[in-house]
Amino acid sequence: MTTTESFTEPASSPLALLLLGRGSDPAAERGVDCPGELPPASDPRLVERAEAARAALGDRAFVLGHHYQRDEVIRFADVTGDSFKLARDAAARPDAEYVVFCGVHFMAESADILTGAEQQVVLPDLAAGCSMADMAEYQQVVEAWDVLADAGVADVTVPVTYMNSTAAIKAFTGEHGGTVCTSSNAERALRWALERGQKVLFMPDQHLGRNTAVLELGLQLSDCVVYNPHKRDGGLTREQLRDATMILWQGHCSVHGRFAASSVVEVRERVPGVTVLVHPECRHDVVLGADLVGSTEFIIQTLDAAPAGSAWALGTELNLVRRLANRHPDKRIVFLDRTVCYCSTMNRIDLPHLVRQLETLAAGDVVNRIAVEPRTAENARLALDRMLALP
Ligand code: SF4
Repeated sequence: MTTTESFTEPASSPLALLLLGRGSDPAAERGVDCPGELPPASDPRLVERAEAARAALGDRAFVLGHHYQRDEVIRFADVTGDSFKLARDAAARPDAEYVVFCGVHFMAESADILTGAEQQVVLPDLAAGCSMADMAEYQQVVEAWDVLADAGVADVTVPVTYMNSTAAIKAFTGEHGGTVCTSSNAERALRWALERGQKVLFMPDQHLGRNTAVLELGLQLSDCVVYNPHKRDGGLTREQLRDATMILWQGHCSVHGRFAASSVVEVRERVPGVTVLVHPECRHDVVLGADLVGSTEFIIQTLDAAPAGSAWALGTELNLVRRLANRHPDKRIVFLDRTVCYCSTMNRIDLPHLVRQLETLAAGDVVNRIAVEPRTAENARLALDRMLALP
């Protein structure tokens, strides 16, 4: 048996291409406010143009690339990482006038909060949002807190929000004594919160909250309830709110939420000896069926340390899986699901958008800037600083 296997990208279907933003009308992109022409994807000089603009900017610009970005973008990143690492990396470069964030909107907001007032953070396509972050709107969370207050539990509840949330939700969390968490430190964040209160309102990813509470803190599934912001009182009775330890916001990642327990069964039949490794944003039954669960950084480190000849099925974003498969040709690395599973919003940042961003910055125009309103930034910073101080 050969121990090598080249990664086969799923066939491009019209739907997949639509999801990737290719072939779409750039002028129709929601929220795009960027003067100048978006270079056509067919321009053979795109790489050359990006290199020239990058060289012209020099140390004035710092380009960050999230692990889920396309290879064509990652090649221009000065550093790569998950959202938290990139925000910290940005904060460690106070000399950089421009921080070009190749990721999604909430990540650029966090970078803006953690960088100096004179630094300008830009997102090459303002339509690069995050469907999970969009599932918890500020006004919905304010209303949820009122529901908790009516049930008499707001005073004993500590809000914890995942990094993948808007600056407004982080600010709410900071104002109400809570903390931000990442998929790497969710356990510590929950323990910290439960030392300060009897309950946690966990936003916006119900799966990370449930998986951490049950698998790492030893709580029961029955200790968790799901708050649905689209239902009256979250769809919960006062008794349910009083009895619960974890009040999980009804949000999820549209990429990791796609994996099913049946995919785990299927891949074990398809790939002999496979180790199934999934991200904690996956559903609870998927995590229960997997061999290992961990953050993006954990997945990368585990694959780097894995022996040659080992076989892995990864339940995470496809750009990262493909990159890991190409980086480790001595290991068999397959995608957990048989269908395409890119993060469509991450993929909105492509080479034409990056070229336009770098060229406009090099010409002295700052477009696509992400600037968090000062009061929001101040309160969000409180929650972020509490995370940084977690034991
Ligand atoms: S992978 Fe999921 S959580 Fe991450 S940006 Fe995409 S939709 Fe949001």
